[in-house]
Amino acid sequence: MRFLIRSALRQSMLCGKEEDCPDRLFRCRQCGYSQSTELDGCPVCAAGWRAIDVSHGPACPKHLVEEAFETPNGVLVRRCFRLLNAKAMGLAITLNDITEEELRVMELIEAEKQEQAADEDKDAKSFQELLLRKLSRR
Ligand SMILES: [Zn+2]
Ligand SMILES: [Zn+2]
Repeated sequence: MRFLIRSALRQSMLCGKEEDCPDRLFRCRQCGYSQSTELDGCPVCAAGWRAIDVSHGPACPKHLVEEAFETPNGVLVRRCFRLLNAKAMGLAITLNDITEEELRVMELIEAEKQEQAADEDKDAKSFQELLLRKLSRR
């Protein structure tokens, strides 16, 4: 569960666009043929480039995370992120609206967010220290 939440929070850092994915996969929408090198058309069914989809490959962390979000736990985490967004937008959510489980996951998300913010502060601080050390050496 924590893994799912952490991944969701860091999703943008995992992998960018499909086209830039180091493990991208080209797949024909018509017959399902796929390969890892770029396809201008399908060699199997001769479909044109319009039928070729590019997606994150099986070894890409983003793909793994997306797969994890298809599981029941992943669906729950996604729903809780939506609930938190709704709350941030000013919608009132009462304890009657959510289940015990959802509440627990939302608490986990909040804790994870704070931890991540603290991590970023630490990173920024060590970067500043590094900079100061470099400058003082001159
Ligand atoms: Zn990727
Ligand atoms: Zn094809």
